[in-house]
Amino acid sequence: MSNKQVREALALLYGFRCMLTGIQTKDLSYHHITKKEHKGKATIENGSNLHPKIHEWLHNIVELKDKELFYLINECLMLYKKCLDLEKKELIDMYESEIMPIFRQKMFKYNEKLTKKKC
Ligand SMILES: [Zn+2]
Repeated sequence: MSNKQVREALALLYGFRCMLTGIQTKDLSYHHITKKEHKGKATIENGSNLHPKIHEWLHNIVELKDKELFYLINECLMLYKKCLDLEKKELIDMYESEIMPIFRQKMFKYNEKLTKKKC
């Protein structure tokens, strides 16, 4: 499947929203949980839809500066998808109300910095 096809399949399964920030949007980008260079494929199992900005932050900041955190976040995405598949309501609620706001904040801060640089 192409990235675009998987992105659409993921959106149909999990909604048109970013799986890190919970932001609802049709403007999503496909993230390989296991990287292409580590033989991760563009499949529903290996992917999650992300807001383009948090996706940028994840690779440009986290992956470059803190590999361990990068892997943890990917693990988080895997587990969140598993919870959605198994309808683990309590865990889903916990992730969405406690973890997602943290990522939203990270994204806003990252975006703020970018905008300042441009000025
Ligand atoms: Zn990615």
